[in-house]
Amino acid sequence: MDVRNCRKCRKLFNYIGGQQICPSCQAALEEEFQKVKSYLREHPKATMVVISEDNGVSVAQIKQWIREERLSFTEDSPVAIECENCNAMIRTGRYCKSCKAILANSMNEVIKKPRKELPTQERRPIREKERMRFLDKQ
Ligand SMILES: [Zn+2]
Ligand SMILES: [Zn+2]
Repeated sequence: MDVRNCRKCRKLFNYIGGQQICPSCQAALEEEFQKVKSYLREHPKATMVVISEDNGVSVAQIKQWIREERLSFTEDSPVAIECENCNAMIRTGRYCKSCKAILANSMNEVIKKPRKELPTQERRPIREKERMRFLDKQ
């Protein structure tokens, strides 16, 4: 059995694949999420800080829900988060549309590139260090 400390309340709980918090914190968080979701239906123009204060949920937590694409906002909502790559303001997810396209492309390039180059570059400094250690001993 895999037992871990809950990230929120620090209590031990049975770890089930990928979960960072215990079932009771998970349930409380889900409750908060539903609260924010229905709050947004009534206050579509509320700012991040106002949503946070009115619901007692941290801005970081709200941002996380946005990054997980669980919360969505209308066109006239002032809520936005930064693209993790270029800091452009976005409404949902982690990257803006153009960064998503660039990232998809560069990921393809990485796969295409031959992987031989990297290990030799990494090995060289280690060999230098070993030689220096050898000289120190003399
Ligand atoms: Zn907990
Ligand atoms: Zn971007």
